[in-house]
Amino acid sequence: MEQHYSFFQGVERNFDKAAKYTRFEAGILEQIKACNSIYKMKFPVKIGDKIEVIEAYRVQHSHHKLPCKGGIRYSIDVNQDEVMALAALMTYKCAIVNVPFGGGKGGIKINPKNYTVFELEKITRRYASELVKKNFIGPGIDVPAPDYGTGGREMSWIVDTYASLKPGEVDALACITGKPVTQGGVNGRTEATGLGIYYGIREACGIEDDMKALGLTTGIKGKRVVVQGLGNVGYHAAKFFYDNGAIIVGLAEYEGGIYNANGLALYDVVAHRKSTGSILGFPGATDLKNSLETLEMDCDILIPAALENVVNASNADRIKAKIIGEGANGPLTPEADEILGKKGVMIIPDMYLNAGGVTVSYFEWLKNLSHVRFGRMDKRFSENQNATILSTVESLTGKKVTDSERRQIQHGPDEVDLVYSGLEDTMIGSYHEIRDQWIKLEKKVDLRTAAFVVAINKVGVAYEELGIFP
Ligand code: NAD
Repeated sequence: MEQHYSFFQGVERNFDKAAKYTRFEAGILEQIKACNSIYKMKFPVKIGDKIEVIEAYRVQHSHHKLPCKGGIRYSIDVNQDEVMALAALMTYKCAIVNVPFGGGKGGIKINPKNYTVFELEKITRRYASELVKKNFIGPGIDVPAPDYGTGGREMSWIVDTYASLKPGEVDALACITGKPVTQGGVNGRTEATGLGIYYGIREACGIEDDMKALGLTTGIKGKRVVVQGLGNVGYHAAKFFYDNGAIIVGLAEYEGGIYNANGLALYDVVAHRKSTGSILGFPGATDLKNSLETLEMDCDILIPAALENVVNASNADRIKAKIIGEGANGPLTPEADEILGKKGVMIIPDMYLNAGGVTVSYFEWLKNLSHVRFGRMDKRFSENQNATILSTVESLTGKKVTDSERRQIQHGPDEVDLVYSGLEDTMIGSYHEIRDQWIKLEKKVDLRTAAFVVAINKVGVAYEELGIFP
């Protein structure tokens, strides 16, 4: 039977499933699960010649580490339960990738398409000032980011509102992340989630035992991949797989899907969609009448990166992929998890796999607090040192490297190089933490439960070490 509990209850259900493998007493577990602060607000905004009362939320799920962190969603479906669930998932996600934040999430119950840019700016700035009034935003309190329906533009309005209300606050830029680079953002944030997905799946595919169990060889090269969604997450995930030798056999967007067992030229598909308005009709590919059909096509790796609940009790048994990398939040229902688990499919959970965005948001926050671009202090130093080492080796050996080798060896790190490197290290390290836990539990649970255990252990220890106020 399909889901009959709320989103937040679903998160609690997964939590409870994992909690029994931890050593914490019931009170600590109860505290970890609970949403610490919920701020529901209603405020008036003049839209046209009428006053509209806007409903909005900010939820801080856990204060075990501060600031809280999580995106702001603009959607007509925003409700308290959803914001609470997403905030809770942020707590566990941050713990898994060792980002020192508690979970948070915000939402405004509007369809942004129904408003002009000026009206959206008014709504956003009013929301930001409500957060300031209640002390629900700040570099050490709560640091939002983009989510559905928001992006760099909204983040710019929010940071500007915050800075205006807090004149002279030297760290004001760190009150929000996902800002455009010109407004204090960090290079590499846009592609971070897709790149994190690539690093995470690459790591999983590098472990011989696990690949053998799936009947696959190690490595990404030659793996057949299907991606659903060509938005920020899906496009960048597909791009990094494609650029690194995977074969993109299927792609899906809301208008339908395309499949070619011999591979699709990703950049040509994107150009084709740009010129025709659809991925359908791409030369050499078979058209599939809907996006869901694409999920069932033959492949090694399936990356649903668009919507939630797309793999569920009604289609899970028809999925042919051996690995599912959850790019979107919640693309698999608990029922699908069960069906696929029994089939031996490896599911790499969203809580870990799409954490590249929050990881790089953490780097942006650090950049804002340190008031210096990554690489500014050491790029030239590294280049000079590399040049000295190279010329010493050349004079000792009497051999010269080529110009392109010289450029590569001498290159000192730019901001984006350091961001990629920090993200890669994070995704690799965290995958092994989850897998080690999975091995410890003798592979009797799925990777999602193992990831929850890792998260609960970290948050639980933090609460124990914080102590409980008398
Ligand atoms: P996006 O809006 O950029 O992209 C979503 C894409 O999915 C769009 O291209 C849209 O046309 C497509 N789509 C819509 N309906 C579809 C359908 N039925 N079939 C196939 N494609 C369809 O959003 P995004 O930022 O890429 O986010 C996608 C998912 O990833 C969401 O679940 C989001 O919460 C999650 N996520 C995003 C980030 C991030 O950094 N952007 C981080 C973590 C998780």
